[in-house]
Amino acid sequence: MKYEKRVFNFSAGPSMLPLEVLEQAAKEMTNYNGSGMSVMEMSHRSAEFKQIIETAEQDLREIMNIPDNYRVLFLQGGGHLQFAMVAANLMRRSKKADYIVTGSWSKKASKEAAKYGDVKVVASSEDKNFTYIPKVAKEDFRPDADYVYICANNTIYGSRYTQLPDTGAIPLVADFSSSILSEEIDVSKFGIVWAGAQKNVGPAGVVIVIIREDLIGFAPENTPSMMDYKIMDDNGSMYNTPPTYGIYIAGLTFQWIKRQGGVKALQERNIKKAKMLYDYIDGSKLYTAPVAKEDRSLMNVVFVTGDAELDKKFVAEAKEHGLVNLNGHRSIGGMRASIYNAMPIEGVETLIAFMKEFEKQNA
Ligand SMILES: *Cc1c(COP(=O)(O)O)cnc(C)c1O
Repeated sequence: MKYEKRVFNFSAGPSMLPLEVLEQAAKEMTNYNGSGMSVMEMSHRSAEFKQIIETAEQDLREIMNIPDNYRVLFLQGGGHLQFAMVAANLMRRSKKADYIVTGSWSKKASKEAAKYGDVKVVASSEDKNFTYIPKVAKEDFRPDADYVYICANNTIYGSRYTQLPDTGAIPLVADFSSSILSEEIDVSKFGIVWAGAQKNVGPAGVVIVIIREDLIGFAPENTPSMMDYKIMDDNGSMYNTPPTYGIYIAGLTFQWIKRQGGVKALQERNIKKAKMLYDYIDGSKLYTAPVAKEDRSLMNVVFVTGDAELDKKFVAEAKEHGLVNLNGHRSIGGMRASIYNAMPIEGVETLIAFMKEFEKQNA
């Protein structure tokens, strides 16, 4: 099979998937594993699909080293439903929750949670346009808070947590939508790790929720069934028809990660890719990266020229060179290169070569 005219796609999401995954899906599109049908056409109750979802879960458990006392759910509703679902299920005693706001997604999550209880924004980096991760001490959290919430990687602003806040016995909930499987994490440090699939895992429409068992079962009676982690868990993520094709592609991505040598190998590659790009930006006269050095994302590299018109020109010319979707989020402008797991080193090298050329011509 030939894939001419593939571009280096720096989209923040939905984003680039490994070519091997797409090729395998293409090969299996009309006849999955001798079944005579596509995964899309298959009953979610069939033996074939049962195996697909079970293998996906097993592989994810293996590559993330997920402890046995955590449940893995494949849900729908995107990141935005998790903003509400976390609060609906975890505000179980004091109905207080403490949020650290480091960007648009955690801000939105805090506002959604406030519909369910008493939300306190314990720290925010909005004062400096979300260009850093605020330092927070254990004493800053309310001791009776039901959970503490963070966004692990800020897709829009390009910052990330490198050190988790110490929340003591309070469960920590983290949105890993744009950094899941990009670096090793210790799942046992969290109450919930959740991630929308469309950044680093598969197509939009699947959300992975990894939840500690003892946090399941607290949603109030009037919680919609689709928003109750217990109902989803009791039914093996199949209370209703799950996003079958998306789960299948996610499973292919997990197998691809295993073939790459696991998350550790990807982490090393991701550090290398990000370092190449940040080093070049820091050394250049034209471009600057606004995020504090110690908090810079490995996945979303945000940079500007300082001239909005020149930024636009950059994005347009890059596109002509097969480097697409380099515009920053519509809320902040500038540029953003999202370099998820599927972006090969060659893509970053090609981008840097283009940036050098553009710098020369626009100095
Ligand atoms: C993309 C993204 C979201 C929003 O996801 P939707 O599926 O569009 O609701 C939330 N959090 C983070 C960190 C994201 O990158």
